[in-house]
Amino acid sequence: MTTKTRPGNGKREQADLDVVVVGAGFAGLYLLHRLRGMGYTAKIFESADDVGGTWYWNRYPGARCDIQSIDYSYSFDADLEAEWQWSEKYATQPEILRYIQHVADKFDLRRDIEFSTRVETAVWDEKASVWRLRTSQGDTVSCRFYVMATGCLSAPKTLDIAGADRFRGATYSTSHWPHDEVDFTGLRVAVIGTGSSGIQSIPLIAEQAAQLTVFQRTPNFSVPARNGPIPARKLSDFEAGREAFREAARWSLAGVTVPISDKGAMQVSDEERQARYERIWEAGDLIEAVTIFNDIVANPESNATFAEFVRNKIRAKVNDSDVAETLCPYDFPIGTKRLCLDSHYYETYNLPHVRLVDLRKTPITTITETGIDSSDESFEFDAIVFATGFDAMTGAIVAVNIAGREGVQLSDKWADGPKTYLGLMTAGFPNLFMITGPGSPSVLSNMMVSIEQHVDWICDGLEHLRHKSLDMIEPTETAEAGWVQYVNDFGAITLFPQANSWYMGANVPGKPRVFLPYVGGVDVYRTICNEVVDNDYLGFRCSGPGGSRVNDGIVRPVQPDVTILMQIIESLGFPPINEMSVADARTFDESMATERPPGPEVGEIVDGVLTGAAGELAYRLYRPASPGPHPIVAYFHGGGWVLGGRDSDDPACRELCAQSDAIVISCDYRHAPENRFPAAADDGYAAVQWIAENAAALDGIPRQLAVAGWSAGGNIAAVVCQLARDAGGPEINAQLLITPVTDSDLSRDSYVDNADGYVLTADLMRWCWNHYADPADWQNPKAAPLRADNLANLPPALVVTCEFDPLRDEGVAYAEAMAAAGVPVRHLPCRGQIHTSIMAVDMVISSAAARAEMANWLRQGFRASVAA
Ligand code: FAD
Ligand code: NAP
Repeated sequence: MTTKTRPGNGKREQADLDVVVVGAGFAGLYLLHRLRGMGYTAKIFESADDVGGTWYWNRYPGARCDIQSIDYSYSFDADLEAEWQWSEKYATQPEILRYIQHVADKFDLRRDIEFSTRVETAVWDEKASVWRLRTSQGDTVSCRFYVMATGCLSAPKTLDIAGADRFRGATYSTSHWPHDEVDFTGLRVAVIGTGSSGIQSIPLIAEQAAQLTVFQRTPNFSVPARNGPIPARKLSDFEAGREAFREAARWSLAGVTVPISDKGAMQVSDEERQARYERIWEAGDLIEAVTIFNDIVANPESNATFAEFVRNKIRAKVNDSDVAETLCPYDFPIGTKRLCLDSHYYETYNLPHVRLVDLRKTPITTITETGIDSSDESFEFDAIVFATGFDAMTGAIVAVNIAGREGVQLSDKWADGPKTYLGLMTAGFPNLFMITGPGSPSVLSNMMVSIEQHVDWICDGLEHLRHKSLDMIEPTETAEAGWVQYVNDFGAITLFPQANSWYMGANVPGKPRVFLPYVGGVDVYRTICNEVVDNDYLGFRCSGPGGSRVNDGIVRPVQPDVTILMQIIESLGFPPINEMSVADARTFDESMATERPPGPEVGEIVDGVLTGAAGELAYRLYRPASPGPHPIVAYFHGGGWVLGGRDSDDPACRELCAQSDAIVISCDYRHAPENRFPAAADDGYAAVQWIAENAAALDGIPRQLAVAGWSAGGNIAAVVCQLARDAGGPEINAQLLITPVTDSDLSRDSYVDNADGYVLTADLMRWCWNHYADPADWQNPKAAPLRADNLANLPPALVVTCEFDPLRDEGVAYAEAMAAAGVPVRHLPCRGQIHTSIMAVDMVISSAAARAEMANWLRQGFRASVAA
């Protein structure tokens, strides 16, 4: 191997090559082309004897793409785009392979590819700052940068069926199909597996075989591909402006431009819902299918409507109702395993020589010399086809023995699931890149768009290093941990974790159950990757002759759905509340309450009037559906003592009532600035006294009373507890303080760190305080309960704080101070939440668990007080 001049090399040891790429599929080929263009010495090692990757190996009958070919093709070269015409909507494997071969020829790529050569080990040499690789040919090679373009679906799953090697007939695997034509004519054939590969191949195998028996463990959802000519609309859009077409795909949700509904499935009438599903059934496009409503993979109720629609289609297509029912999936939400696209799959089961065996009822006991034994039958076959899937996303990467800094094996580092930064790199393994690695959109997108984006990002990164005379890049542990958390958080607000899918690693025995891809969308992901670069490679440490630096940090510390909420609020373009008049601020606040989800049903809601400190005050009572009497929670709304009311916190009160099984009484209190300090606190205390006195009349349980409040309402709740203690009653069992105002010190770290950008700003809090109280009163414990001399003998408290909230630190301080004074205190810190998201019922899924915990804490507290 010759050493050429390496750009930005400085004085470190020369490597044989600047870059080694593993894999000659779509990813490796484009990367090689780009690297050459940038003047790097580069080589691909590929275990197959030609280019193609997926499309080299998966030659089974019926193999086609499931993203339309116009979309599923390279966009980087205008000539290539102009000269290649796809023959149909979903091209076959041979056509896609021809396309890849054409690309290899056009850009003369084969001369830098070593075929039939597997990379077996890769070791980071810390001293020399190079990777040293060993191949199946026994060669060693060193390189500065090492890229795994090894594919998400290239490592077949190890066969886990007893007796698989006993069979004396022919066996085939869809993922390693022979190059010579396989003829099943006149044969008795078994197919095991009904994922995309099985569903594509079964109808074609049935055309030839004398008998076909399909062994199904889990049925899948499939919609008709409706293959044929390229849809005229798509073609004309493409021809009208290729670059605009591609750019739109790059900034789309899944790498394909389809209209994305702004409605959830339950927000339209049943008639409209069915009509849209019918349209999808006719369209033959899997991205359109899962975006027909915006909550198909997030809302179980919406999901169930689509799943039942598809099941009804299956029932209509398959003549035998038992067979149809066996083909109907029930045990995972639709879309949480890759939706299949088929051509006459379900109809195949109407053929007299095709039989479906339900492995849930009669599992395979063993493969024998002549066939397959199930728990109640022996089958004889001439051929068995395994369509049993892949060790997806991580399999091909950890199959190489990769040792990073201090000899740490990647397979050990990833033993509990892969850890990456952006799905591109992993800490402790400098200069090692992955294309479409775990933690990137990859398999949830049109892979061509994701592949090109990763290749471009890596190449831009290498250029950046060269420009700065650096030659080492590696993510920091903090950045990586933050990304892993963010990817998991995104998965957790969807239905994906409910499926035993290969997305979850659930198909491979012993593989850790972790949601592997990033589900936030190609567009959001691209924004994040660009942001990392724009912030001077946030989360990376780089070094080389040009120096060394660490730019530590987390790129998305806020919960994903909270970020979406913040973006929606920002997009509305309202001026800051603290720049509005009080009247305008109240009108705005009320208008915000009209568009949101209503919250859950409760048994009864009654508006009434109670006696406040200076006259009557309105209240709203929420009664659980269960038979009474119930404990009572006196609740105080948020709004900085100036805004808010019964309506503003209505969904949260409904939910608190439904989940705690307590009566919730949302009490008004006089607002500032018309009624300044201590009006709100005095009203709060008077309201609690009134509720305690009238508990029985309200069908509540006397002396089963808690106070709760959010924000300024949390302040009132905390103050009421102190007043009740000092005045000898009423007896309060518990205080739930949700992101409460407890102090008037606006200089704490959380005020500084979260001053702006998280809806509740430091300026807005200042506005609230100024309206509420004269500076002389800011220290008064009736305004700032943290300032009280005595915090002992208060009711047990649950203090909820949000990470990105100016009020976070004073909430923590109040929890700590009460605990120090001997009060039983639980502190619930909410990671990635902001002040407003914690109460956004049915809008922010990630805060729902915290609210459920609050309700549960109240419920337990009431139970404990009864026992005492
Ligand atoms: P691959 O094409 O998988 O190439 C990786 C290459 O690396 C392989 O050739 C492999 O031999 C080689 N390799 C791996 N390890 C080593 C090693 N240690 N040493 C040497 N060589 C190694 N995606 C879509 O977006 N749309 C589709 O329609 C679609 N259809 C698909 C159909 C099938 C049947 C399958 C299996 C996948 C499909 N995919 C589809 C996903 C598909 O894998 C990607 O679209 C894309 O082809 C991946 O390209 P790649 O270059 O990243 O990886
Ligand atoms: P798959 O979706 O993982 O399906 C594998 C099938 O084999 C499942 O039905 C599985 O059942 C079954 N199976 C595995 N082990 C088994 C065992 N021991 N006993 C009985 N059954 C067993 O794999 P795939 O079909 O190859 O598809 C993988 C992915 O590749 C797809 O999701 C898609 O992304 C891509 N792909 C795309 C296309 C396309 O249309 N373009 C075609 C093929 C593949 P269980 O579900 O019960 O485990």
